[in-house]
Amino acid sequence: MTKGTSKYRSPTDDPLLMEMLAARGLDEVPLYSRSRRNLPEKAWRDAFERWDALAPDRDGPVGVPPVPVPDPGGMSAAIKRKARELGADDVGITELTPVMVNAGEEVPHRYAISLLVQERYTEVLGGALAVEMETIDVYIRCAEISTALGKHIRDELGYPAMADHNGTHALQAIPTMVASGLGEMGKHGSMIHREFGAGFRPAFVTTDLPLSPDTPDLFGVQDYCMHCRLCENNCPAEAIPPSDEHVVTEGYKRWLTDVEKCYTASRLRDEYCHICVDVCPYVHKENGDPEKRLLYKLFMSKRRQAGWRTPQWFIEDEEEILAAGRRR
Ligand code: SF4
Ligand code: SF4
Repeated sequence: MTKGTSKYRSPTDDPLLMEMLAARGLDEVPLYSRSRRNLPEKAWRDAFERWDALAPDRDGPVGVPPVPVPDPGGMSAAIKRKARELGADDVGITELTPVMVNAGEEVPHRYAISLLVQERYTEVLGGALAVEMETIDVYIRCAEISTALGKHIRDELGYPAMADHNGTHALQAIPTMVASGLGEMGKHGSMIHREFGAGFRPAFVTTDLPLSPDTPDLFGVQDYCMHCRLCENNCPAEAIPPSDEHVVTEGYKRWLTDVEKCYTASRLRDEYCHICVDVCPYVHKENGDPEKRLLYKLFMSKRRQAGWRTPQWFIEDEEEILAAGRRR
């Protein structure tokens, strides 16, 4: 049993966000308003229907007697193969610690299997709506894959297992993913994966199936962040501080973003803000993908024309926004 210690901010009813709405006389979060411009309402409705349909299989009784596991390393390799067959783009394993679980939650299992599904970077040139649609699609796939993997462990291997994904969060994603060997935390507060950069969404399965944990994959991100500063200089809300102010949790360095400032651009506007992730050079820096490098150059050239701190925009505003940037 792991009792959580990490603070969780609900995307919809975080007390800080509620205070900010009240101070502005708003009765709903502009990003989530049903009357907002360009709301991908059907995509969100489909996502909620899919999550509801998957909910009964998220956890459940074990279906068969437990298979013997004389070799946890071999079992870990088999679970990773299974997760990839189900559609995960990368998989890692860790033993749970209290910082990986949200305060107020208790996880009755020993291990977490972390699953990543990458977002298509091509969508970045389609503007805020395209990025949001891609995010919704990837969140659904995360829920499907984690639910199917948990069911596989219960029904075919005979061990308790529970899926944890967007909307059912017991786990704190970043410490769990970092400990699972999937990447390093960047200055923008998201995890950076060698191949996907920060352009992915995670899901998890917690389980008592005997497994062999991975070790963190440290490939120089935190040193590079010290002189890169692109997320800091592009954040429209100036929510990523220029300083090296950080905390250390279980020996791991974490920079702090200013959540209140971030909300002004990511919740109090009606466009999806994904800018700190999209401007991060790790989109192509570590994997060397020439197509991603080209897309990145095109995207960054638009941001330069618009003005580095310009908020996200919808594609139909693009010419106007780029022209306004050129006049400044
Ligand atoms: S989500 Fe947007 S506002 Fe928030 S830190 Fe990233 S770029 Fe800044
Ligand atoms: S944009 Fe630069 S500073 Fe920000 S997380 Fe990425 S590498 Fe680090």
